[in-house]
Amino acid sequence: MASGFGGFGGVGPFGQKLADGEGVQFHPIDPAEQQNILHGIDPKHKNFTCGHCGKLTNGRVVCTFLRKENKGIISWCHCSCERQEPTVIVENFVNGEFAQFPEAREFHPGESWPDDLSQLYEEAARSFAGTAYTAATMVCRKILMVCACLEKAEDGKPFTEYVKYLTDNVLTFPKAKGSIDKIRTIGNDANHSVDFVSRDDAKKAMQIITYLLNTIYSLPSDKFSSP
Ligand SMILES: [Zn+2]
Repeated sequence: MASGFGGFGGVGPFGQKLADGEGVQFHPIDPAEQQNILHGIDPKHKNFTCGHCGKLTNGRVVCTFLRKENKGIISWCHCSCERQEPTVIVENFVNGEFAQFPEAREFHPGESWPDDLSQLYEEAARSFAGTAYTAATMVCRKILMVCACLEKAEDGKPFTEYVKYLTDNVLTFPKAKGSIDKIRTIGNDANHSVDFVSRDDAKKAMQIITYLLNTIYSLPSDKFSSP
């Protein structure tokens, strides 16, 4: 029997014809699941923070699955925003477990940031949302280095030199200096040893980078340019 690689068109759970890409198709594996699908219409929605757009959403639950081992309930949802991005939620009302994939996105690039920095920042934000905190922090450090080079620092220097360059030449006011300087201690030498970064520290790195990029590229430049 064909396993569904030939496209999305076909027959829906109630025998209706579906055009390519239309509607939800269920894939029962045994008669009990097939019976479950046919027992009637039972729409379900769930409030959660979308893992992609980061907004609170009342998303549709496409299907749920009760995990045998510990009675965790897995819900496959999609956001009610235009993009209908998927999110998987695992809940266990017995032991209080809750997990969401991807985790709600807290960080989004600014509209006026340079493209390369926005793209790197997207990667950092996705890593953070996916609980890859060491990876997120390493990308934050990379962003800082690329940002310094865009601001005319010399290429090929150690990380600490770029921190110094930015605080000496680009954002020189004391509060910015203190904040950006903190990133040196987060994920220090993450490139050379297996020094895993905690969620709190990765979040701090994301916040510092967000602050840095917003201050350089999002504030109205006419307020800072020389007369
Ligand atoms: Zn969304």
